[in-house]
Amino acid sequence: MSECIFCKIIEGEIPAERVYEDEDVVAFLDANPLAEGHTLVVPREHVERVSDLDPDLAGRYFRPVPEIAGAVQEAVGADGATMAWNEGSAAGQEVPHAHLHIVPRWDSDRHGPIHALFQAQGEVEVDEAGLAQSVRAELQAARA
Ligand code: AMP
Ligand code: ZN
Repeated sequence: MSECIFCKIIEGEIPAERVYEDEDVVAFLDANPLAEGHTLVVPREHVERVSDLDPDLAGRYFRPVPEIAGAVQEAVGADGATMAWNEGSAAGQEVPHAHLHIVPRWDSDRHGPIHALFQAQGEVEVDEAGLAQSVRAELQAARA
C-alpha cells in the first residue's frame, strides 16, 4: 500500500474535496489553501516530478488543466490565478507526487507575480548563449 498522501487521496483512502477526475487526473482542494479555491491537479500515476512524466502522460495530465483552471476562477470570482509546480525539495516540494497548484488571484490581493519569490537575490549573471546550448544538448541527449 502506498505511503504517498496523494496516492491515498486518489485511491479514496483519505478524504479530499475532489473537484475533477478522469482516467489519468484527479483535482482536489488544497487542505491549507493559500487563497480561497486553491486547487491541486495530480496525475493518478505516482510520479514525483514533472520532469519524470513521459510525454504521453504529460499530455493527458495537462489536457483538463485549462478547464479546471477556468472553473476554479469562476467559482471564487477570481481575476486570475498563479499556477505552478514546486519541483523538488529545493523548490519547496513537500509531497513527492507531482501536483499543479492553481491559486486564485485578485487584482486587489497585492501578492505580486511569481518573480516576487526571487527579488531578494538581485540580478543573476547568465551566459545565455552557453546556457541555451547546454539545454539543447540535454534535450538532444534525453531523446537519443
Ligand atoms: P508542495 O509544497 O508543492 O509539495 O505542496 C503540497 C501541498 O499539499 C500543500 O499546499 C498542502 O497544503 C497540500 N496538502 C497536504 N496534505 C494534503 C491533504 N491531505 N489534502 C489536500 N491538500 C494537502
Ligand atoms: Zn503518490
